[in-house]
Amino acid sequence: MRVLLIFVDGVGLGEPHPTHNPFCAADLPTLTALAGGQVWTQDATHQQSERALFIPTDATFNVAGRPQSGTGQAAIVTGRNVPRIIGGHYGPKPDEATRAIIREGNLFIDTVNAGKSAALLEAYPPAWHHVIRRGKRLPSSYQLAAGSAGLRFFGEDDLRAGRALSGDWTGAGWHSELGYEDTPIITPYEAGQKLVALAREYDFAFFSHWLTDVVGHRGTLPQAVDLLVKLDAVMCGVLDAWDDTQGVVILTSDHGNIEAINHKNHTRNAVPTVVIGAEKSRFERVRDLSDIAPVIRDLLLHDQ
Ligand SMILES: [Zn+2]
Repeated sequence: MRVLLIFVDGVGLGEPHPTHNPFCAADLPTLTALAGGQVWTQDATHQQSERALFIPTDATFNVAGRPQSGTGQAAIVTGRNVPRIIGGHYGPKPDEATRAIIREGNLFIDTVNAGKSAALLEAYPPAWHHVIRRGKRLPSSYQLAAGSAGLRFFGEDDLRAGRALSGDWTGAGWHSELGYEDTPIITPYEAGQKLVALAREYDFAFFSHWLTDVVGHRGTLPQAVDLLVKLDAVMCGVLDAWDDTQGVVILTSDHGNIEAINHKNHTRNAVPTVVIGAEKSRFERVRDLSDIAPVIRDLLLHDQ
């Protein structure tokens, strides 16, 4: 049983407002189909369609304040109620208490300890490797989780060789933001297909897309619409390539943000969890972000 977890930062289910919520302003046929024909807003309910299970998922843990990436991602990769354990939401990078929880155990460590293979599928640029190695920048919670399992972080060579995917899906950011002229650029649909091809090489594969949170903090409605249209095409590529009998694809987020483009903060909205694959019903019991990892663990470690 294979698991591909697609993590999108800062995507929640917000008010159905076409000028505030890009999900209501964009044409998103694949995302809508994944929610059983519903637009991704707070009105969307738990749905099971032929290909997918859609679950509005609590990211607050009944802890006051706005959910943050450090604790939210940690809950996803450890399956523990991290905001409640440390007594608050913390981020964007994990604090010391959260880092200790991540190092105690997470999906990457569990997979590797069971003799199975795991990977973080993003390619990071040389500057990122440099600052992480020198301790000038803290890894995010999911990066720390992968690193604590001894996994290698992919880089420029892996991107060029097709062993990893750019965090912006297409690789266009390596040209526009990093100054490269010759690194590969693919379409969002191809990125979805590539994600599936890469995930076939591992038992557990994780991919993080963080631009959704960046646009939620600093972007405009047209920028948010543009990004969600890309996500829709990526998921179309994923759906076309994924073999439902081989495992599950899970898409989830750590907290809301982009769904309320009228303000620049995270929200306390529920986040969408989508599960694609024949075993999707196993995720029916997911209520909050800490409920996802235990089901993945069961699928990876106890099923053949
Ligand atoms: Zn944020």
